Amino acid sequence: MSREDMTKLQSERLVKLVKTCYEKSDFYRRKMDEMGVKPEDIKDIKDIVKLPFTTKTDLRDEYPFGLQVVPQSEVVRIHASSGTTGKPVVDTYTKNDVDNWAEGVARVMAAGNVGPGDIVQVSYGYGLFTGGLGAHDGAAKLGACQLPTSAGNTEKQIMLMQDFGSTALACTPSYALRLAEAIHQSDKVSIDNMKLRVGFFGAEPWTEGMRKELQEKLHIEAFDIYGLTEMSGPGVGGECEMHDGTHLWEDMFYPEIINPDTLEPVAPGEFGELVFTSLCKEAMPIIRYRTRDLTRLIYEPCKCGRTAVRMDRILGRSDDMLIIRGVNVFPSQIETVLTEFPAFQPYYFITVDRVSNEDTFDLDVELRLEFFSNDPAKQMPFMKPLYDRIVSLVGIRPNIHILPPGAIARSEGKAKHVLDKRNFKN
Ligand code: ADP
Ligand code: ZN
Repeated sequence: MSREDMTKLQSERLVKLVKTCYEKSDFYRRKMDEMGVKPEDIKDIKDIVKLPFTTKTDLRDEYPFGLQVVPQSEVVRIHASSGTTGKPVVDTYTKNDVDNWAEGVARVMAAGNVGPGDIVQVSYGYGLFTGGLGAHDGAAKLGACQLPTSAGNTEKQIMLMQDFGSTALACTPSYALRLAEAIHQSDKVSIDNMKLRVGFFGAEPWTEGMRKELQEKLHIEAFDIYGLTEMSGPGVGGECEMHDGTHLWEDMFYPEIINPDTLEPVAPGEFGELVFTSLCKEAMPIIRYRTRDLTRLIYEPCKCGRTAVRMDRILGRSDDMLIIRGVNVFPSQIETVLTEFPAFQPYYFITVDRVSNEDTFDLDVELRLEFFSNDPAKQMPFMKPLYDRIVSLVGIRPNIHILPPGAIARSEGKAKHVLDKRNFKN
């Protein structure tokens, strides 16, 4: 779609959405009244900046159904995100909402040529988490066969993957890595006997280094798929064959980038906080949702021919960012560094604490079996270059602990990379 047509479509959808929200939701009416904005003030997608933001706290306050603008009889599905603290964030869907969501996922899987004849092994968790059913419905929309293994039960997963001949895998990148590791350790299955050719990985940040690792170990082409419960789930966007940014389906999910401090839009192409408006959502539409994901938008045309805007890799969530000795650290920076060193496995765990008024930064890493030794003198040739690289890239000195392969806990869903003990002190 041309930019002009896209803008027109987005404008029409926004005008309709704002009218519905104002009429049907006490929450949006109150927020708009507070800002002195009326639905008539919204004539064009550019007017979106006049509208109030919605935050995770708003969603929690309105738990469970405060933001729903249709009668319960029109709702066919309810999901909720993990919500590490307090009440989970809820999303509800009409039949059209489920269909549009599947459309978003299908557009991503289509870039990997998924269709009839493919077996899509869905190893995202099925349940309230949107990953499992989201990937499932997307694969169904393309006429592919769904293999709903869900996450976990790793030994059985890899047996079915080989015996059934799964051609596509959908799961978190950390679980894909766990599966790859299990395949290579197993004497019952072999990657050479498998038919896997593509993978769709998301729900957490991952790096180019991780892509390389997964592609090599699983003999696949790996695609990034992005999404969040508040916008339906996975499939808000995804990579194309160029693997040069994540296309966002902006006909359905309108993206903006703001400065998280001033809340003003950033200059085009600059990094900031990603904000989404679910332009087509019927049951529980969200206006200007502050994702806390940090990235930038790329409006230059993509070589693939798709005109949908691209976003850069997610640097991290603003609430995942650690401030250690005054320096901003994203866990994904550690992953980037680790994957540059072939002797190390791409697993890590960061522990931050405060001892005698000073921040400590401990980093657990694993050496591959052929390099591992308990002897510190033998560890040194591996430790030193890793240490230097972290100091130069991240800017702080880590206390590195080299562990044997397998020592760091593996994850079936979203990996947990950080323990910040400072949060438990005052
Ligand atoms: P929760 O907030 O409980 O993790 P969600 O499953 O809705 O619930 O998580 C959505 C978030 O997951 C996004 O806002 C983003 O931070 C992260 N995420 C999802 N997909 C990706 C991806 N492909 N790359 C990086 N981060 C992602
Ligand atoms: Zn493209």
